[in-house]
Amino acid sequence: MNGGRWRRSGKRLVASMTLALLFLAPGGAWGVESLKFKPAFNLFKMQQDVQLGKENAEQIDKELPLVTDPQVLRYINDLGRRLASFAPNNNSEYAWTFKVMNSSDINAFALPGGYIYVNRGAIMAAENEAQIAGVMAHESGHVVMRHGTHAVSQALLAQAPLAILGGILGQTGSITAQLAEMGLGLGVNSILLKNSRSAESQADEVGTYILYQAGYDPHAMAQFFEIIEKKYPQKTIQFFADHPVPENRIKDVDSEIPRLGPAKEWKTNSPEFEATKERLLSLPAPPTATPAPPASASSSGPPPVPSSRLIKFEGKGFSIDYPDNWQMQQNEDAVAFIPPGGIVEDAESGSTQAYGTSISRFQPQSSRQGNWGLVDATQELLDTMRLSNPNLRVIKQGGMKLEGRAALSTLLETDSPLQGQKERDLLVTTRQSNSLFSLIFIAPESLFDAYKPTFDAMLQSLELQ
Ligand SMILES: [Zn+2]
Repeated sequence: MNGGRWRRSGKRLVASMTLALLFLAPGGAWGVESLKFKPAFNLFKMQQDVQLGKENAEQIDKELPLVTDPQVLRYINDLGRRLASFAPNNNSEYAWTFKVMNSSDINAFALPGGYIYVNRGAIMAAENEAQIAGVMAHESGHVVMRHGTHAVSQALLAQAPLAILGGILGQTGSITAQLAEMGLGLGVNSILLKNSRSAESQADEVGTYILYQAGYDPHAMAQFFEIIEKKYPQKTIQFFADHPVPENRIKDVDSEIPRLGPAKEWKTNSPEFEATKERLLSLPAPPTATPAPPASASSSGPPPVPSSRLIKFEGKGFSIDYPDNWQMQQNEDAVAFIPPGGIVEDAESGSTQAYGTSISRFQPQSSRQGNWGLVDATQELLDTMRLSNPNLRVIKQGGMKLEGRAALSTLLETDSPLQGQKERDLLVTTRQSNSLFSLIFIAPESLFDAYKPTFDAMLQSLELQ
């Protein structure tokens, strides 16, 4: 459910729906004005894109393995900067720094301000220079259209509008730290890198434009995405989780190309590209990390049955057991336990949890007065959730004990992000110091009973400090 979206706990889920409607990036149809390439709504100054990108790049460089071979880096940076010089909306302050991740997975991502990472696996999978240039041009599109800070802006408005009006982002110091203080954790798997389908379409448009201007076959970008999706499904899971495939990608790209100008003698390959591939082949094999299966793999059919083997999760002020075939995702103040395929990707509202459990803390307005009641605070939380789940309905509510504490159990019905289905949610709330500790157990209505034993086992394992 939207209220259970793991990265939006409590108050922050409020405005997401409205904002999605107001600030949807231009996508889909490419009209005559398509070449104007207008970035969507953004709260950040362009210089803050660069700073935010730099801060997160430093973190990523520390955490993830990089290829350090000078020949490979020289090639990728020469190519990247050449492409970027044709980017619309470019700015001389952008860093345009290209790094190669030492991973055989096929992936690439862009941080705000021009910090672009291309996986070794993506270079190896490209059949020619135009294809890898296509990926890099697409990532450059995310940079110049400022999709990362656009997503952060939306999340901020949803959760801390007053803080923004107060000008918190105007201060000096680490932007990442300021955002973390507002409950918005960034990093490798954060909203900085998760693009909506409309952002994808726009990055496709810009990428195609850059390829054309740089003299490459502009079909190469969409072709590459299509090839890797079919040929290497296992190695592209993360790429397509962060870059959801826009509807009609190939068709849209093909129809943009004639509008860019006359067909040319396209460049497709270079000896330097082939030499770079050779060079990569000669380097030691990438470390074989076994990445956790992404929870957001686009699901066809329901997730596998929850495992009865449980793993303990130690959170801030609590611990809980969860099935060992579920994935844990966590940010500053929310944690979600998600079965494989339990997240549904939607063009407008992004990722929504359709199965699993979400735990967060909610700060009721009434807590400002110090003395507040569980029932009123839970009602306040429900009102907040209703803003993004307008059809949310309470089926029944009753008192219960949770580790000896007074708790409230609320059974809810709402629309499932799975098309045409209803969703059932069990919300359990209790007081923990001055906030409302809440667990939401989520499943489509038709499967809720099947999930109930797992939910009960999780609830029984809960320990609160
Ligand atoms: Zn993308």
